Amino acid sequence: MSAEDSIAARLARVRGQIADAARAVGRCPDGVRLLPVSKTVPAERLREAIAAGVRRFGENKVQEAREKAEALADADPAWVIIGHLQTNKVKYVARFAAEAQSIDRLEVAEALDRRLQREGRGIDVMLQVNTSGEASKYGVDPAHAQGLLSEVARYDSLRMRGLMTLAVFSEDRERVRACFRGLRELRDRLQQTAPEGVALEELSMGMSGDYDLAIAEGSTEVRIGSAIFGARPTP
Ligand SMILES: *Cc1c(COP(=O)(O)O)cnc(C)c1O
Repeated sequence: MSAEDSIAARLARVRGQIADAARAVGRCPDGVRLLPVSKTVPAERLREAIAAGVRRFGENKVQEAREKAEALADADPAWVIIGHLQTNKVKYVARFAAEAQSIDRLEVAEALDRRLQREGRGIDVMLQVNTSGEASKYGVDPAHAQGLLSEVARYDSLRMRGLMTLAVFSEDRERVRACFRGLRELRDRLQQTAPEGVALEELSMGMSGDYDLAIAEGSTEVRIGSAIFGARPTP
């Protein structure tokens, strides 16, 4: 991939690679959505992606997402929060986000619902699950997912769509794949006991370096940043 490639060219290539990865495992390419992850990318560059047909962006920091939502209000894309949520930030999320994939504890769901009720809005949500068992990763422990799901399902403003995870960061592809498989199997188990009206259709898993494995394990949404927008500055 050359640095001069336009965002449109990279998007087209990534879309093609996602479709190839789906076909390679006998899945329909339409069953895997692309969520472009725009963290650290300035709002003005996102206009290129919008011009190339992008209508949703994933962001991991509420403050950054908020600023971009304001800067791009005229284009009005949907904002998807994929990073750790603090309860003191949910009031902003309730104002501008279309979706939050990082619900990992009751406290956050409760605070978000309260703010959404006040705004008269509802949003799509997913439970973030810690499938790698690493202490450095956020997400509910798989053993506690069923309890959290039944609590979160009670909040009218939160439309439960599925599960999200980040795989272990490892060169060992089998260990990475095991995280994705674990999320799918957890979803299948949760579906047996899910509260009424909760379908858990979505599995948000797979990033630039591992989306092929995630798609092989049933991902319905891959979150791709650097393969579209280029390498991010390392913190
Ligand atoms: C940054 C990020 C991504 C995208 O990562 P890339 O490796 O750049 O594709 C996906 N999911 C989450 C939660 C992220 O923070």
